[in-house]
Amino acid sequence: MSAGILHVGAAGWLRDVHRMPSPNHDERPDGCGVDLLVIHSISLPPDEFTGDDVIRLFMNTLDCASHPYYRRLHGLKVSAHFFIRRDGSLIQFVPCAKRAWHAGASCWRGRSGCNDFSVGIELEGSDSVPFADGQYGTLDGLTRALQQAYAIRDIVGHADIAPGRKTDPGPHFDWMRYRAALRAPGG
Ligand SMILES: [Zn+2]
Repeated sequence: MSAGILHVGAAGWLRDVHRMPSPNHDERPDGCGVDLLVIHSISLPPDEFTGDDVIRLFMNTLDCASHPYYRRLHGLKVSAHFFIRRDGSLIQFVPCAKRAWHAGASCWRGRSGCNDFSVGIELEGSDSVPFADGQYGTLDGLTRALQQAYAIRDIVGHADIAPGRKTDPGPHFDWMRYRAALRAPGG
């Protein structure tokens, strides 16, 4: 999946990408286009990458009694447009035309409420370990597809739009590697 060329199709669903429609979304404000990409990282339980609890969180099916950490997630309604797993596989939860609930209280270039005008991409990871090669490959292809479909002005981390509150994608996300791959021809 990560090796193929990705295309944004109708309503902002990517063609030939696994879809798991999350209920956690709503309409973007009238006239509000997408011009920002927000990179996140997440793992549940923290620093574990083997289960499907991130997917369950985004689908509102997580059993919050199944792990002590999850008590704080009870009743939380969140999502991202995309989730890139450790093996580089890609899942789409919300079509890009809709507003996913990933950024929370946030501000970029003087505009607050970044969910209104952004696409959120979650990488399966944490602040304590490097991301996997396959994740960079998938992120590169996904970013190129989104740049083709939308007038993306900036690509930022969650920490950049919610400083002091969020740290993701964290110290192990290699921004230089990501940006260098985007500058390279092809894809
Ligand atoms: Zn985040």
